[in-house]
Amino acid sequence: MTFGQQRAKAHLNRLLQSGRVPHALLFLGKTGWGTLALALEFAQQLQCEAADPFKNQGPKPEICTCNACRKAAQFVHFDIHFFYPTVGANAVSTNFAKEWRAAITENPWLDANTWLQRIGAENKQGNITKDECNAIIKKLSLKIFEGRYKILLMWLPEYLGKEGNRLLKLIEEPPEQTIFLLVAENADMILPTILSRCQIVKTDLLQDEDIAAALREKRGLDAERARQIAFLSEGDFNFALSAADNPENDDAALLLDWLRKCWRGNGVELVKWTETFAKLGRENQKQFLQYGLHFLRELLALVVTKNTEARLRPEELKTAQNMATVLNFEKITRLAAILNDNIYFIERNANPKILFLDTSIQVNRIMKSNNGF
Ligand SMILES: [Zn+2]
Repeated sequence: MTFGQQRAKAHLNRLLQSGRVPHALLFLGKTGWGTLALALEFAQQLQCEAADPFKNQGPKPEICTCNACRKAAQFVHFDIHFFYPTVGANAVSTNFAKEWRAAITENPWLDANTWLQRIGAENKQGNITKDECNAIIKKLSLKIFEGRYKILLMWLPEYLGKEGNRLLKLIEEPPEQTIFLLVAENADMILPTILSRCQIVKTDLLQDEDIAAALREKRGLDAERARQIAFLSEGDFNFALSAADNPENDDAALLLDWLRKCWRGNGVELVKWTETFAKLGRENQKQFLQYGLHFLRELLALVVTKNTEARLRPEELKTAQNMATVLNFEKITRLAAILNDNIYFIERNANPKILFLDTSIQVNRIMKSNNGF
């Protein structure tokens, strides 16, 4: 299931072979890089019955058919417990077990918002509740059912907030044969007292060629298209999958069209554009904005370093070069901040027509303002 991440995998293999697996590991990196996928695979390796990971090379999780691996690969192993953000003040992960299995079977590179929308968050916030922490404490008092270990895998402990204090003692001194696998994207949002009790396993951006190969294998794309999407994905396979699955939604063309309209600042044209855009749906709108941020980052590099190696297709590069003559560093960062805010607003169900008309007007003003404005 996993690909890339050679550095992290080598580290995990050393742990398996040494027989000294720490009782709390924190996998740190974007889920789109394969961080969750890697933790899921590691949980399976820990439970595998076919090989003794302490003596041998470690099992090959993708081909092993032992009882434990088959169950772990389907996410139904009795001694691998999953915890993740849910919606509702008293919600616990087991309420959403079916949706969780379906989601990570489909795409273990998924992002938090996709997951929360899937379980009906609408405009509610996800969290890991006090009840969830109590459920974890209770799970730990049960004896191991069938596995070598009891594994508690938590995706995005960032959502614990202060509730994390309830788990401190357990993470520090867990019962025997118990292993915590935390999978996080942002260390700044985790209690330092939790961080300091975990061994950190950092993951890396995926390589373009690894993403392209995975796209060819999983989505049957031709080499050129796979390479093109990989190039735009900046190491994030979730982005790559989404771009591959929505070929009708060509964000680059949409963005160039929008930027031209913002530049001209014709009100009728902009209203028409926002009306069409409002119908695209929230996920596509977010993807568009993320694409816009990617474009602005490349534009910024172009302006600052005169870098000609921008990750842009030929037509976009031409537009970026034109824009580089009229936009300075400050203007570009202001545009990026606006797009970033819009992602936040879209996730919270803002009215896209109002939001994007307003945004288009702001973008027009920034583009046309005198430098230093
Ligand atoms: Zn196995």
